[in-house]
Amino acid sequence: MNHDHGWNFQGEVSLDKGFPFHSKLKDWIGEYTNLPEGLSISIFESRCEEANCPVEETRLSWNTDKGEDSLRIGRSKEKISKQDFYLAWKKKTSN
Ligand SMILES: [Zn+2]
Repeated sequence: MNHDHGWNFQGEVSLDKGFPFHSKLKDWIGEYTNLPEGLSISIFESRCEEANCPVEETRLSWNTDKGEDSLRIGRSKEKISKQDFYLAWKKKTSN
């Protein structure tokens, strides 16, 4: 049960072009964050096929003038809901 999942690179998008796998994610980023429109975002996913291991996680990662920043959402990338995004962003920015 204790095994390493790692992150699989899924691609990189420019925020103004949006995400090919998700039609709304770009809008929610615009609504809830102040990330700049032309930002490049790398997408990583961690997904486990083993029974009894419900791991499905997406990591969005980008560079800022202070270094790398990222957001982790506990859902596979196509299935992220508005609430998933909102809660993940709120958790990230509230500490
Ligand atoms: Zn697993």
